[in-house]
Amino acid sequence: MWYKCKKCGFIFTRTEEPDLCVDCGAEYSLIPPTQEEIELHKKKLEEVRKEDWNTKDYLDK
Ligand SMILES: [Zn+2]
Repeated sequence: MWYKCKKCGFIFTRTEEPDLCVDCGAEYSLIPPTQEEIELHKKKLEEVRKEDWNTKDYLDK
């Protein structure tokens, strides 16, 4: 399940519904994100991964 924090906008996945936002700790602030928000979030994660890879590649040379 995907969750989005109404307070800070943080998006994350959990198998069980959490009580708190894992980022800012706000209570009862979790809503399901839209499909668009999930896709955007996945894209962002991929970009971060790519950046990490590039950094590693650079350091290895
Ligand atoms: Zn939050």
